[in-house]
Amino acid sequence: MVDYPDVELFIDGRWRPALSGKTLPVLDPATEDRIGTVAWAEAADLDEALAAVARGFEVWRVTSAHDRSRIMRRAADLLRERADEIATALTREQGKPLAQARGEVLAGADVVDWFAEEARRTYGQIIPPRRPDVLQMAVKVPVGPVAAFTPWNFPINQVVRKLSAALATGCSIIVKGPEETPASPAALIRCFADAGVPAGVVNLVYGVPAVISEYLIPHPVIRKISFTGSTPVGKQLAALAGAHMKRATMELGGHAPVIVTADADVEAVVATMATYKFRNAGQVCVSPTRFLIEAPIADRFVERFTAAAQKVRVGHGLDEATDMGPLANERRIPALQALVDDAVAAGARLETGGRRLGNRGYFYEPTVLADVPLAARIMNEEPFGPVAVINRFGDLGEAIAEANRLPFGLAAYAFTGSDTAASRIGREVESGMVSINHLGLALPEVPFGGIKDSGYGTEGGSEAVDAYLETRFVTRKA
Ligand code: NAD
Repeated sequence: MVDYPDVELFIDGRWRPALSGKTLPVLDPATEDRIGTVAWAEAADLDEALAAVARGFEVWRVTSAHDRSRIMRRAADLLRERADEIATALTREQGKPLAQARGEVLAGADVVDWFAEEARRTYGQIIPPRRPDVLQMAVKVPVGPVAAFTPWNFPINQVVRKLSAALATGCSIIVKGPEETPASPAALIRCFADAGVPAGVVNLVYGVPAVISEYLIPHPVIRKISFTGSTPVGKQLAALAGAHMKRATMELGGHAPVIVTADADVEAVVATMATYKFRNAGQVCVSPTRFLIEAPIADRFVERFTAAAQKVRVGHGLDEATDMGPLANERRIPALQALVDDAVAAGARLETGGRRLGNRGYFYEPTVLADVPLAARIMNEEPFGPVAVINRFGDLGEAIAEANRLPFGLAAYAFTGSDTAASRIGREVESGMVSINHLGLALPEVPFGGIKDSGYGTEGGSEAVDAYLETRFVTRKA
């Protein structure tokens, strides 16, 4: 087996253990073997990180946009050069198949490049004055040091969006990385350090998530928060940010509907969406969850989707034959089992799967539930695992009402042969992102974010840059 590093903190341009020497174990979710450790930061480490990020901000805010962009593009190139090595660590700590891990690293490099280009375009405005001797300027300035909290499902992708937007705009950042999957985000940050980002501008800590967020968010040095994770934790952190008047971006849970009308090509939709459903073992905030199928094609859809689920090859992510790896951590197994058992008890049909696979490694069968009553927990809570729910609808209005029934509003999908249905879905489905007749989400240049309980703010497109900028108005008389 390839080497896996013991991961240290990165504070003020230096990799080092926690001051206390404490560490947390890192497990391979496919074998449950202990593969390494990660340093566990406490208050004294966080104080050093806060002092460093404040100094880093003073350096980076006056580094020209041209130079910031150049350093970022160098980091993207390093990420591409190191993609194989980083992807292997990612698969070992997180479980996803190596090809998906490699794809995540390379997509991360594209994110860095895109934000690096945007760094040079953070234009302000000259506003026409009411007198000729007055100048009115709206200038964009970096908001200040950022605290970013990122989860374990996409250890590179979740960090790289926040990090790139912060660096592009002249902000410094402390990243609280995922303790379960620490090596790949550390390798990402090493690319930035090696590319020439000055000391203190980027810092990386791990530890007890609640302890770190409660310490960093209220701290006067920190001016902006960005969090990706579950809705309950997001609400807590947003409340804390609000109490201290900190700007916040919240990318939270979802429960994506997929509307398929009777005139869609069932085979083509199943081929696309079954692969998409089981990607990263369903541990994706935009994962398709509630398949809403028009009645005349519903039985055929269930049959084809179930057959596709049964063909998914589950195994260790480093095995080339593997389509789907394990769940990323042990607690997801009972969480998922409870949702499946509850659905079956409520009257759902279990078409396939529904159990843990083996007793070593956190493997769970690709699972399909059909005709699930709305009262079942899985129709209301994000499963965040390899479970597809397939229900039928009578007319489009009913499907849209079901799509909008939940407080979530992150991603939604639809497949239809009708232009009228497509426009209605685009207009009426309450979701931060709607993808119709193809899978088109999550490119760096397009918005990525939710509405309602799925959070606020976006992590892609030009608004993602604005989230790290303040507008200041300066007026001057000659
Ligand atoms: P969780 O709610 O305990 O944690 C989710 C993430 O938030 C983790 O990365 C965790 O480290 C972090 N976190 C938890 N409490 C925190 C706190 N007080 N301060 C700062 N960070 C904190 O759940 P979990 O078991 O890790 O994951 C399961 C649920 O989390 C899923 O059901 C899913 O809804 C959500 N999740 C969402 C995403 C996403 O991409 N939006 C990613 C991972 C997990």
